[in-house]
Amino acid sequence: MEIPVVDLKAQNCALASEILSLWEQILRSARFIGGEHIDGFEREFADACGTRHAVAVSSGTSALLLALEALGLEPGDEVITPVNTFIATSEVIAKAGGRVVFVDIDARTYTIDPTKIVAAVTPRTKGIVPVHLYGQMADMAAIAAIAEKHHLWVVEDAAQAHLAEYKGRKAGSIGIAAAFSFYPAKNLGACGDAGAVTTDDAALAARVRTLRQHGSLRKYYHDFEGYNARCDALQAAALRVKLAHLAEWNEARRRHAQRYIELLAGTDGIVLPAVADGNLPVWHLFVVQVEQRDKIANALAENGIGTMMHYPVPLHLQKAYAHLEIPEGTFPVAEACAKRVLSLPMFPELTEAQIAYVCENLKAVVAH
Ligand SMILES: *Cc1c(COP(=O)(O)O)cnc(C)c1O
Repeated sequence: MEIPVVDLKAQNCALASEILSLWEQILRSARFIGGEHIDGFEREFADACGTRHAVAVSSGTSALLLALEALGLEPGDEVITPVNTFIATSEVIAKAGGRVVFVDIDARTYTIDPTKIVAAVTPRTKGIVPVHLYGQMADMAAIAAIAEKHHLWVVEDAAQAHLAEYKGRKAGSIGIAAAFSFYPAKNLGACGDAGAVTTDDAALAARVRTLRQHGSLRKYYHDFEGYNARCDALQAAALRVKLAHLAEWNEARRRHAQRYIELLAGTDGIVLPAVADGNLPVWHLFVVQVEQRDKIANALAENGIGTMMHYPVPLHLQKAYAHLEIPEGTFPVAEACAKRVLSLPMFPELTEAQIAYVCENLKAVVAH
């Protein structure tokens, strides 16, 4: 049996005629930039997240960058973020003019450890960027309490957590702003790159809207320097079609996660993902921990099972951050996870038989 770690073809084929007919209208009208699909998607996505505003942009990375830039960072300003995430989360902090301060993650949930945030706050700290990793939201109550005490803003990196919930509140609706990615493999994926910033703050939304288009809301007039970071109409149209299915796809992911947990529970040598109280994850990834992870991944690959690692090198040990001179051993939880995490196949169309096959093989390989 061949089981890819993620399969986007089934979803795209099922929706192809609907998406293609919208794309044909756009092609014939030549309205590629702006227009009804951008406005429509922004309204529908904001509704889905329970926020007042959503601003569609060119990627999750631009969403993070524009949100931070809209908040304003001065040289030396510090922003705290977890060390186990995709580099997009941290790279935008320096690009927006600030300094990244890494902290370790919680060993059970893999999201930023609030107790480590407290220890990292200094008089220069301006904000926190928690990441709702693998589809589970970070401990937002603890993070909000720290932020309030020290007058910090919180920008959620919700790139892996579309419609995830924490104590009844949706991802993207708790911080001052949030960044979403619609990279094709995300729970809500475009047919190329796209992203969005959500916020309840009208002034912040307007600033992001202005930044995405060269600091300009009125043709020929530029209030400040910005970017070309727009989402195009073709992506917005495809995203509107897909957004209508997102809740049902997330439900399917939850069923698959449940099934994985039932089939793998109690197996020596496999650490299963934990869901913290009050969390309703959307299982962007299903991540287990195993010893000798690379050997296990290779053995699974020989049996046709695709896996990935999120992430094999923690950010402080990346060459990109060598200048920070953070020695190995500084973030023991993230460093241990990096050697052991293994992402199993997870996508809505996964079948019961495929999950059973993955579990049988994984158990056999781990026992060996
Ligand atoms: C995917 C991702 C991003 C970046 O999104 P792009 O659309 O690829 O730019 C940022 N943060 C996290 C946690 C991600 O998974």
